[in-house]
Amino acid sequence: MDKQHPSRLRFNFGFLLEARIGTSRTIELDYPTIDVEDITLTPLTGTLVVTRTSEGVYVSGKLKTATAVTCVRCLIDTLAEVKVSLEELLYYPPEATPPGELFISEDGYIDLAPLVRELTILELPIHPLCKPACQGLCQECGANLNEKDCGCIVDEIDPRLAKLKELLEED
Ligand SMILES: [Zn+2]
Ligand SMILES: [Zn+2]
Repeated sequence: MDKQHPSRLRFNFGFLLEARIGTSRTIELDYPTIDVEDITLTPLTGTLVVTRTSEGVYVSGKLKTATAVTCVRCLIDTLAEVKVSLEELLYYPPEATPPGELFISEDGYIDLAPLVRELTILELPIHPLCKPACQGLCQECGANLNEKDCGCIVDEIDPRLAKLKELLEED
């Protein structure tokens, strides 16, 4: 982990590991903005319920966040709002952890940044739009058609279809 920028989603669950099975605590997250590895979340809010189980700590929660994405039509950065649900068993002790599962270190700490990052990215739209009716960029001059009508006359036929039409006509 980067020593200069310790994760702000690193939690100490030592108190819970000492507690009886079934003990729960609620953790409120309320970050106006937070860097989670390589992405910035603005904001990150929500509630996590952490419960001691026989295998470790079960985390369950719902988070709300937003992060910058690029509109696929006009290429402008826009915030995509996402809701993230967490349902995760964090194993303890580390040596009792099945392969590929998350675990709490011997000292009781776990960094939830990789999990929050992964779950957020999964919820991001595949083809983000700045708004549903984004007009995109002019194919001729590149103007942002949301801002102005550049007046270009764009050939209605998609260039790929035009090529296909040529081929069909050759036949
Ligand atoms: Zn757009
Ligand atoms: Zn144009």
